[in-house]
Amino acid sequence: MEDIKSMEYDRLQTVLTDMGEKRFRAGQLYDWMHRKLAADYGEMTDLPLSLRSRLERDYPLTVLQTVQVQTSRADGTQKFLFSLGDGELTESVLMRYRHGISVCISSQVGCRMGCRFCASTLDGKKRDLRPSEMLEQVYGISRIVKERVSHVVVMGTGEPLDNYDNLLVFLRLLTEEKGLHISQRNVTVSTCGIVPGIYALAKENLQITLALSLHAPTDEKRRQIMPVANRYGIGELTEACRAYYAATGRRITWEYSLIGGFNDTLQDADALAALARPLSCHINLIPVNPIQERNYAPSSRAVVEAFKNRLEKNKINVTIRREMGRDIDGACGQLRRRQMQRDAKG
Ligand code: SAH
Repeated sequence: MEDIKSMEYDRLQTVLTDMGEKRFRAGQLYDWMHRKLAADYGEMTDLPLSLRSRLERDYPLTVLQTVQVQTSRADGTQKFLFSLGDGELTESVLMRYRHGISVCISSQVGCRMGCRFCASTLDGKKRDLRPSEMLEQVYGISRIVKERVSHVVVMGTGEPLDNYDNLLVFLRLLTEEKGLHISQRNVTVSTCGIVPGIYALAKENLQITLALSLHAPTDEKRRQIMPVANRYGIGELTEACRAYYAATGRRITWEYSLIGGFNDTLQDADALAALARPLSCHINLIPVNPIQERNYAPSSRAVVEAFKNRLEKNKINVTIRREMGRDIDGACGQLRRRQMQRDAKG
């Protein structure tokens, strides 16, 4: 059965005309699914009842069930645990900033990239998420909070470039003017560094922001925490970043998680600056969020500040990521994992 909420507009039109419907029905249906965010065909009152029941039978709508919502007392960050049609779980986060509401979504159930500090990957990858399942994280949250989501970051569980085709359809539907029409400039896709995916994305003619999780300035160090570094070296990565910037004109963000005593010396900062300078990258520093399964500790505040100052001295544009939602299982994959552990205990 084809997933109707994962269809781009042209495909939807074909499906409806093949059903013997008028073309304008596609516009109505698209509007209900992707702009009015209907959770049910029953809400689509300007579609004939007979059409609604045929759609219900042949194209059941993908919607997620809300399993849990946690709200941070500290900063209003909300973490959502949703269940998918097959009972798998996925998690998403809403963050409130001065410039709007940002939703962080997952792209896969679990992850197979194996980054050592990340909770999402501890049990490997279960499956890819479909475009509709990525969209529904944004739609579901919009329905719950009844506010407009202005920014979307694909930085939750999963490696988006390991689910490339679904990611692309998701990005088109999310930014499509007939739908929520989120500005491409307000969408960020974060990758651990799948080089062919970066080249492919560069050719898609999108204005999204690409974020690269670098986390170490040398291959030798990077390989200790990120298995993907055995496949793609930093030389290849920076070359791919250069190509992406040249093709899109969009500056790349490098994410750098500071792990106490591992990648946080001034020497590391200088090496990082030397890589970032020629590419005009923006660097986002994140004190590593400790997970109980591994003994990585975040760098102290003073070390983080010193690292930032050193980068700035090297003329690098740098921010320290505000740590949001620490009091609510903030790190990637922690919420789903806790729930699965609870379920296993019965
Ligand atoms: N697979 C993609 C996107 C998901 S992870 C990627 O690797 O970019 C989103 C970001 O959170 C990545 O930069 C990742 O390295 C980082 N991250 C994961 N676990 C973390 C933790 N415990 N502390 C700090 N950052 C973490």
